[in-house]
Amino acid sequence: MNHETALSNAKEIANTVLAPAARQNDKDSHFSSEAIGALGQSGLLALMLPAAVGGSGLGPRTFAAVTTQLAEADASVAMVYLMHVAATATIAAARPGAAVARTLHDIAGGRHLSTLAFSEAGSRSHFWSPVSRARRNGAGVLLSAKKSWVTSAGHAQSYVVSALAPTAKGPTESTLYLVPAEAPGISVAGPWDGLGMRANASAPMTLEDCEVPPELQLTDDGAGFQAMLEVVLPLFNLGATAVALGLCRAAVAGTVTHLKGARFEHLGQSLGESLPTLRAQLAAMQIDTDGLAARLDDVVDHLERPGELTMLRVLECKAAAGDTAIDVTSAAMRTCGGAAFSKHLHIERLFRDAHAGAVMAPTGDALRELIARATLGMPLF
Ligand SMILES: Cc1cc2nc3c(=O)[nH]c(=O)nc-3n(C[C@H](O)[C@H](O)[C@H](O)COP(=O)(O)OP(=O)(O)OC[C@H]3O[C@@H](n4cnc5c(N)ncnc54)[C@H](O)[C@@H]3O)c2cc1C
Repeated sequence: MNHETALSNAKEIANTVLAPAARQNDKDSHFSSEAIGALGQSGLLALMLPAAVGGSGLGPRTFAAVTTQLAEADASVAMVYLMHVAATATIAAARPGAAVARTLHDIAGGRHLSTLAFSEAGSRSHFWSPVSRARRNGAGVLLSAKKSWVTSAGHAQSYVVSALAPTAKGPTESTLYLVPAEAPGISVAGPWDGLGMRANASAPMTLEDCEVPPELQLTDDGAGFQAMLEVVLPLFNLGATAVALGLCRAAVAGTVTHLKGARFEHLGQSLGESLPTLRAQLAAMQIDTDGLAARLDDVVDHLERPGELTMLRVLECKAAAGDTAIDVTSAAMRTCGGAAFSKHLHIERLFRDAHAGAVMAPTGDALRELIARATLGMPLF
């Protein structure tokens, strides 16, 4: 698979599997196993996996484009996809000796969905400081933790789980583990009934004395934080930006359709023909959306050729994307009026989904704090 075929596969799945079901899945909070099956069959679940382990070995440019395409049709599925890609990269970057070959083989075969279980009830959005601590259990560990939100909870085949290392002395000395879904002691701890992203099963999960053998420890003790920063953060922020862009594009397209289709019959004009205020709002939405697309391209360029400013751009993109998605979908709500408010259009789903980005960790607020600290030359943590 190359960039073009990946994109055309994503487009095909978005049009034939995601778009027709998005409205009902949102209404029912239904996790789309059909979508994951289609992504697996098309090879997209192994998009960034190295060719040496059966993946397509494609880079951040294709990942961003595919995620944007999926998000235009259904942001819930795009979020599931982005979590899977971030988890897969973490598994693929496991320390030498980790027994992840079987998992990677299954991901390459499109049969395995993974995700990240970082956030904890105790440290909330500060995922870099888990309060759970792994306990030594022979050569392995026992994990007990309250994970507050896990996208694809109960649907993934594995979870990349963080916990403080057994002998951690500081709050960021975490370790990452691979926990198979069938491991005794890991379970979904409640339902998922969010304002938006309703079809991505971001439910809480509990680990109770969950045994993890040494070969499923992904990082060295205390090196989890480094993997979060170096492997997860760039992909997660890029993917979250792509989801936001997809939402913005869908909002612009939905608004165009409404402004062309809805009419003032007494004036003999469509809304768009009739009202310059609506045209001005649409133009502002288009400008913001294209600005976000340019920002996404810039981050991709940075990730392809990392330099001094790469981390700053990675931090900036998700903060900006979260705000832009809220702004553009809010403008779409106003522009499409009572028709949007009364759920006659899919705009209100985009508006609700758009609000997830800013509160998903690292939250927009936390990112702005980090960016300002970096700019002032202060320590980040
Ligand atoms: C749809 C969805 C899917 C999710 N999926 C996953 C997942 O798959 N895996 C996972 O690990 N987690 C996941 N999460 C959890 C997510 O990453 C956050 O941890 C969670 O949204 C934080 O919510 P909270 O109420 O605990 O925030 P709090 O930490 O209580 O934050 C409350 C407010 O304080 C602000 N704030 C917090 N810290 C700072 C700071 N340092 N500087 C400035 N402001 C700050 C926040 O921006 C926020 O506005 C998901 C969340 C959602 C909504």
